[in-house]
Amino acid sequence: MKYYGKNKALEYLNNYPKLWKWMNQCRNCGHIGYKPNLPEHIHPDYAVPHLKWNDDYIRRYFKPLSVNENGFCDICNQKFIEN
Ligand SMILES: [Zn+2]
Repeated sequence: MKYYGKNKALEYLNNYPKLWKWMNQCRNCGHIGYKPNLPEHIHPDYAVPHLKWNDDYIRRYFKPLSVNENGFCDICNQKFIEN
């Protein structure tokens, strides 16, 4: 994928699957990003207890990604409309 550090980012998510709560994944292209409404700071109880600022890692590794009600990202949704 386009952005730097994808493997590290996925490894991070796999190590801390609770963080998926804050992630969106496009059903079509599989692109992963964090939900645009990601809180400024995720309370440790809702993410990874021993890591203080999980949101900081998420923001470092990912970009915001919104998906529509069908689970498609904006880019795929655009293609879908055009075809
Ligand atoms: Zn997509």
